[in-house]
Amino acid sequence: MSDTAHGKVEDNPKILSGPVLTNSPNAVLSKTLLSRYNDLPLPADKILATYIWIDGSGEHMRCKDRTLNFIPKQPKDLPVWNFDGSSTGQADGHNSDTFLVPRALYKDPFRRGNHLLVMCDTFKYNMEPTETNHRVKCQEAYDKCKDEEPWFGIEQEYILLDSDLRPFGWPPGGFPPPQGPYYCGVGANKVFARDLVEAHYRCCLYAGVPICGTNAEVMPSQWEFQVGPSVGVTAADDLWMARYILHRLAEEYGVIVTFDPKPVQDWNGSGAHTNFSTKKMREENGIIEIEKAIDKLSKVHMKHIKVYDPRGGKDNERRLTGLHETASINDFSAGVANRGSSIRIPRAVAEEKKGYLEDRRPASNCDPYAVVDALMRTCILNE
Ligand code: ADP
Ligand code: MN
Ligand code: MN
Ligand code: MN
Repeated sequence: MSDTAHGKVEDNPKILSGPVLTNSPNAVLSKTLLSRYNDLPLPADKILATYIWIDGSGEHMRCKDRTLNFIPKQPKDLPVWNFDGSSTGQADGHNSDTFLVPRALYKDPFRRGNHLLVMCDTFKYNMEPTETNHRVKCQEAYDKCKDEEPWFGIEQEYILLDSDLRPFGWPPGGFPPPQGPYYCGVGANKVFARDLVEAHYRCCLYAGVPICGTNAEVMPSQWEFQVGPSVGVTAADDLWMARYILHRLAEEYGVIVTFDPKPVQDWNGSGAHTNFSTKKMREENGIIEIEKAIDKLSKVHMKHIKVYDPRGGKDNERRLTGLHETASINDFSAGVANRGSSIRIPRAVAEEKKGYLEDRRPASNCDPYAVVDALMRTCILNE
């Protein structure tokens, strides 16, 4: 641990930028009053649907609600909708209508019943995908390599912030004791806001997001959950929905979730390690296929770095330093059980000679549609 970790917060002024509230209004609202109105019986044929999409930042999410008079069974049963793209960085004011196309349905853990969360992608006035719609290309790639059964399991790391945008529970004006005891920690001085993490786990499973695990991370108030393995483009739908549910729950708790990959210098950053396999990798001696994929990845390192965060590699520059369990952004490396390499082959995979590889490069704020797309194109489609 370097000395700055014990320094004053002024030595490290930029923890995060954004609107600072002295006290989140959400934290002081009564959390029990809403239950009175949640009990109001609604007409049986009224279904509330929350349409959710990625905005023009490629990183942040937006949502709005509408009433349906039927119970949709699949995304295409739902109407295409629109929104004001000039307010989300997705259109200019003269031609602002931007379309929302429903792509994946989840049960709504907040409203329950037949109510729905709807993951959408976005299209311009002329029905061309918006700049931050990477889903269309991801779907195209998946359609071309379906038979290889590409599976993805993504480890989403994130950090909770208080309303002053400092990590939740950190001492005012300073730092907590150095990292070490917090990863997978237990105890009130080691982990903060487990209640929120537990609620998120349950909400995701209820919604139909296949969360397969969760753990406290290296920095206090940093956590991780894992989604998958899910097939192809669905893995990215699932991860975005898990992110939405997390933001939405944190709103109720009055804390803020950040997927910034490196909010605090000299402390571990956040990644979105992407675990990937094909049918052949999962079969006997699949390690040969895994090695072939690693060889292909080694030849297009920078191409992947460019799509592994929403700013073409700029965000990952702060995180992939070669320190704090990362490899340098400039070099490609691979190794068994090596957490300082770009690609890691898990120990158990090396022993069984089959399974999957872990790409440790994607930043926590990556667009998983772009990551999944790039892995399918490089490793399966040879593009
Ligand atoms: P780590 O040891 O890197 O912290 P985790 O246990 O947090 O690993 O995450 C492992 C991830 O690997 C999970 O998201 C899981 O879904 C995924 N995974 C497991 N098997 C496969 C597979 N065959 N193909 C793709 N992903 C897989
Ligand atoms: Mn993990
Ligand atoms: Mn982790
Ligand atoms: Mn990992």
